[in-house]
Amino acid sequence: MSAIPQNLQVVRDGIAAAARIALRDPQSVQLLAVSKTFDAAAVVAAAQAGQRAFGENYLQEALDKMAAVKAAQPDLLLEWHFIGPIQSNKTRQIAEHFDWVHAIDREKIAQRLSDQRPSALPPLNICLQINISGEASKSGATLEQAPKLAQAIAALPRLRLRGLMAIPEAAESVALQRLPFHRLHQLWQALREQGLDLDTLSMGMSNDMTAAIAEGATIVRIGSAIFGKRDYAK
Ligand SMILES: *Cc1c(COP(=O)(O)O)cnc(C)c1O
Repeated sequence: MSAIPQNLQVVRDGIAAAARIALRDPQSVQLLAVSKTFDAAAVVAAAQAGQRAFGENYLQEALDKMAAVKAAQPDLLLEWHFIGPIQSNKTRQIAEHFDWVHAIDREKIAQRLSDQRPSALPPLNICLQINISGEASKSGATLEQAPKLAQAIAALPRLRLRGLMAIPEAAESVALQRLPFHRLHQLWQALREQGLDLDTLSMGMSNDMTAAIAEGATIVRIGSAIFGKRDYAK
């Protein structure tokens, strides 16, 4: 039997507990199940246990999985989030097949997604990725670039800028994990004060979810705690 329904319940309980400690409504934290490297059967198992939103990093893998899920369960209404880095030659299929994109850090990519978003679909939901730990090797806009980039993205007609996303450097303790999430929340607040209509902070993964929720995460992106350890060799 699959462990996915039980794992999902453990993660949901963890979200609710972290929210209660932070004096937040557990309903204010959405669970995004990150299904990269896991197959369509894993997605179906999670969906049958009530999970609706799924995150994917690799375009071809995601498109194949969406088709397989649809073939197996045509009536499932799922929400798909693209959370990986995006190359410009991939924007059309992302604009056509996803509901959300979390890792935008360049205006050029955002412009292409807006141009390519089919008119029959609602605007594509966008999070701007911020390199919150300032690591030279990591993607994401800098804190300094963020205000101008956010204003530019918010002005694109077929996108809806929802908020910010970050993947901080690993840290030892919950207290240390909270620092970069706190900085992201402060930037988010500053952008809202500049008039941007943001409602989303996409932050927190399996290992730092509690710290992220304490600092105001509205979407946590959880993979291994739901689906198990990833095997990239497959
Ligand atoms: C893989 C991935 C996750 C999930 O990570 P886990 O540690 O398995 O919870 C979350 N966000 C992004 C951007 C990812 O690439």
